[in-house]
Amino acid sequence: MRLSRYFLPVLKETPSEAQIVSHRLMLRAGMIKQASAGIYSWLPLGYKVLRNIEQIVHEEQIRAGHIPMLMPTLQSADLWRESGRYDDYGQEMLRITDRHGRDMLYGPTNEELITDIFRSHVGSYKDLPLTLYHIQWKFRDEIRPRFGVMRGREFLMKDGYNFDLTKEDALHAYNRHLVSYLRTYERMGLQAIPMRADSGPIGGDDTHEFLVLAETGESEVFYDAQITDLKFGDRAIDYDDKAQCQAVLEEFTSRYARTDETHDEAEFAKVPEERRRTARGIEVGQIFYFGTKYSDAMGATVADSEGNKVPVHMGSHGIGVSRLLGAIIEASHDDNGIIWPEGVTPFHCGIVNLKQGDAEADAACDALHASLTALGLEPLYDDRNERAGGKFATMDLIGLPWRITVGPRGLKNGVVELTSRRTGESEELPPEQAIAKVA
Ligand code: ATP
Ligand code: MG
Ligand code: MG
Ligand code: MG
Repeated sequence: MRLSRYFLPVLKETPSEAQIVSHRLMLRAGMIKQASAGIYSWLPLGYKVLRNIEQIVHEEQIRAGHIPMLMPTLQSADLWRESGRYDDYGQEMLRITDRHGRDMLYGPTNEELITDIFRSHVGSYKDLPLTLYHIQWKFRDEIRPRFGVMRGREFLMKDGYNFDLTKEDALHAYNRHLVSYLRTYERMGLQAIPMRADSGPIGGDDTHEFLVLAETGESEVFYDAQITDLKFGDRAIDYDDKAQCQAVLEEFTSRYARTDETHDEAEFAKVPEERRRTARGIEVGQIFYFGTKYSDAMGATVADSEGNKVPVHMGSHGIGVSRLLGAIIEASHDDNGIIWPEGVTPFHCGIVNLKQGDAEADAACDALHASLTALGLEPLYDDRNERAGGKFATMDLIGLPWRITVGPRGLKNGVVELTSRRTGESEELPPEQAIAKVA
C-alpha cells in the first residue's frame, strides 16, 4: 500500500478528551473516530487490526472444535421474557420498538437467541457435544462509556455457547475454552491471566475472567506473582483429551488470582508475602459454566440414551475483540507511539523513502514494495513528499514492527536501513537481506 493513496488521518495534536494512552494513540494514529458517546467508526488502519484480531480468534476457536456462525444484532424481547432477563437486565439494555409496536432490543449478549436455535433443531444426545460461536457487535448502554474502544457502548465480541449432556462434558467445554483463550491472547503478544471472578447477570457457578495487567485497568486484581511466569507457548494440545485440558486448567488456575469481586484476604494471606501482588487489570474475556439455567427456563432438552428428556448443560464464553485493541496498546507502546506485536500488526513493515522523486530511491522503494508483496507480506510505503522526520514520526506512531529506510546515500553502497520498532536498533543491509529479516 502506498501511503499517498491510503486513508490515514493522523492527528498532530494530542486529543484532550482521551484519558489513557491507548485511546490517545488510537485517535492520533487515525484508527478510530467517535461517532457518538461510546460508538466508533473504524478507520482503515483500526479496521485492519480489528480484522487481524478477529482472524486469530476464529482460528483458535475452530482449532478447539467450535463452530462459527452469525446471529443478528437485533433480538426480539420475547425470548428475553422467557429467560426472565428482559426485566432483570436493566438500563444497560438498549430497547427498541419497531413500527408494529413489537419490543426489540440490541443484543448485549446471546444466551437466549442461541438457546432458541438449539431447542428448535437439536433433540438427541447424539448431536452433542456442540459449541457454536459468533463474532458480532453488541450494545450495552454503559453508564460511563470511556477510554475509547475499551468501554464502548457498541463493541465487538466473540461469544461462544456450549451444549452438553452432562456437567462433566460441559466442564470439559469450559476447559477447552480456557486453553483456546490462553493460545489466542498469547498469539496477540498478550499475557492474559485467568482469575476467579463473579458471574454477574449471566449467572452461574464456575467462571474465570482473563485479565491483562495494566495500570489503567478498571479491575483491581490480587494474585500470586508466580502466575506471571506461566506461558502456554507452542505446546501440543488435543482438545478432545479431557485429562490434558483439565491439567492445563489446573496449571493456570491453582495459584491465587482473583478480581476484587471474589477476593478473599484470608486465602490471599496464605500466599508467601513476597509473592503477593495487588494490581490493576483489563478484562479481555470471561468463561462461564452455568449448568441448566437457560435450558430449564427455555425448555432446551435432549433425549438421553434411555429416551428421557433432560435439560442440556451450558456455558458461555466471551472475548472482547474490540477492547483487545486498547489492551494491546496499553501493554505495548512507548513515548513515540504504538508497538504492534507481529501477530496483529496492520502492515508487516514500513518503507520510508528519504528522497521522493529521486529516480534511484523511487525505483528501489518500488522494488522493495513488489518483493515484499510477492512474499505475501503487506508493506506500507510512505511515498509522500514529506521531510524524513515527519515520515519517521508517522511510522513510529502507527507502530509497524519494521521500518526499511531508503535513501540515495545508502543506495550508493548497495544498502538500506532496517529498524526494529521495538528495540529501536538499526542495521544497514542489502535490500534482499532486509526483506529476508522482515519475512
Ligand atoms: P466489564 O466488567 O468490563 O463491564 P463484562 O464482565 O460486563 O465487562 P462480559 O459480559 O464478560 O463483560 O463480556 C465479555 C467480554 O466483552 C468482556 O470480557 C470484555 O472484554 C468485553 N466487553 C464487555 N463490555 C464491554 C464494553 N462496554 N466495551 C468493550 N468491550 C466490552
Ligand atoms: Mg459490564
Ligand atoms: Mg466484568
Ligand atoms: Mg465479564
